[in-house]
Amino acid sequence: MTRSPVWHPFTQHALEPPIKRVVSTEGAYLIDEDGNRILDATSSWWVITHGHRHPAIVNAIREANEAYDQIIFAEFSHAPAEELAEGLTAVAPPGLKHVFYSDSGSTSVEVALKMALGYFHNIGERRDRIVVMEHGYHGDTIGAMSTGDRGVFNAAYEPLLFGVDRLPFPETDREQETLDMFELFCLSGRVAALVIEPLVLGAGGMKMYGAGLLAGLKEIAERYDCLFIADEVMTGWGRTGTLFACEQAGITPDILCTSKGLTGGALPLAATLCTGEIFDAHLSTDRRKTFFHSSSYAANPIACAAAVANLEVWRGEPVAERVHSLETLHWQSLPRFEADARFTNIRQAGTIAALDLVVPAGGYLADVGPRMRKLFRERGLLIRPLGNVIYLMPPYCVTADELCHAYDAIDEVASIVLERE
Ligand SMILES: *Cc1c(COP(=O)(O)O)cnc(C)c1O
Repeated sequence: MTRSPVWHPFTQHALEPPIKRVVSTEGAYLIDEDGNRILDATSSWWVITHGHRHPAIVNAIREANEAYDQIIFAEFSHAPAEELAEGLTAVAPPGLKHVFYSDSGSTSVEVALKMALGYFHNIGERRDRIVVMEHGYHGDTIGAMSTGDRGVFNAAYEPLLFGVDRLPFPETDREQETLDMFELFCLSGRVAALVIEPLVLGAGGMKMYGAGLLAGLKEIAERYDCLFIADEVMTGWGRTGTLFACEQAGITPDILCTSKGLTGGALPLAATLCTGEIFDAHLSTDRRKTFFHSSSYAANPIACAAAVANLEVWRGEPVAERVHSLETLHWQSLPRFEADARFTNIRQAGTIAALDLVVPAGGYLADVGPRMRKLFRERGLLIRPLGNVIYLMPPYCVTADELCHAYDAIDEVASIVLERE
């Protein structure tokens, strides 16, 4: 067999079986070259919200394709970008008034960091520290990686990463420690921004914390004039039960990053939303105060049209009800593992359910991860445990029967894996 020149992300090619091609997608399924229908229980790395190839989004892309390709986004604008910005500021937490486009979750975070630093630079205040949360993940570019957890993923790049201040993850009954640490960092007067994944730390192991803690952090940020950056790249678009996770804490961040579900997962696009204050700090007859950032593909019109269609799907279809039904299905399915010694940390945030397999050696590189992944695939399921953390994050079109199959498979696969431990 000839070897493919393709280098896949987060893939150890020396250990991976030959990689199958997907020939089409449909609803909650990937269809591979052998005709297998695989239930996409990870929403293709968390991007697909309604289901693959939602007809309204597919049509919007087809129509936009008749009029547009990429258009320079300085000097010119276009209807899809304008409509999307209107729509986003209408549904986002109140007070977010401006929309800056880029093309991925990582770039939306880089933009957020630059907005925060630019804000303090332009108002003449010396603030250059960034506070983050332990186990956080914000993307794989250098700035985003700097704000994320350090470990095997970035050991080689460590010399280039900038230093940040890290808050301990708010474990149950120890939330105050996180708040106190944040306040301690703020007392230096040097903190420009807190960057945080609201309610669920995704790549760090689907670690969940409460809305009260989020509101507490916001209150401290406000008290010390530190900007609050909500990285809603994964949590946005219904994943945690509400359109944005910040809604559950009743807060408006100063900056909000969104990407993955922004187009329903159909095309790459990202937006960084900010308050009028941050925009105004860059508004000046002095050209040095310009926001110096661009992506070549900023505000791609076809991607923007897909996102406008996504907004219409949210407006016109019972998406909130689908999210709620999925939430209920998880809630009914999870108790079977509660008194089960094979599992611990059974948890749920909206449409995301997670549990940890009890194994001697946990962590991301735990051998159980790839072993479980293979066993799930043999059962027609795309489930990618993060080490020993098994989670389900399916698209909202998933049926009760399909979800039931996934839960049965977790039960079965756990037994097989633990037998051989
Ligand atoms: C996926 C993710 C990112 C990075 O998004 P990309 O589109 O992969 O660059 C950033 N933040 C969070 C919380 C994410 O889950």
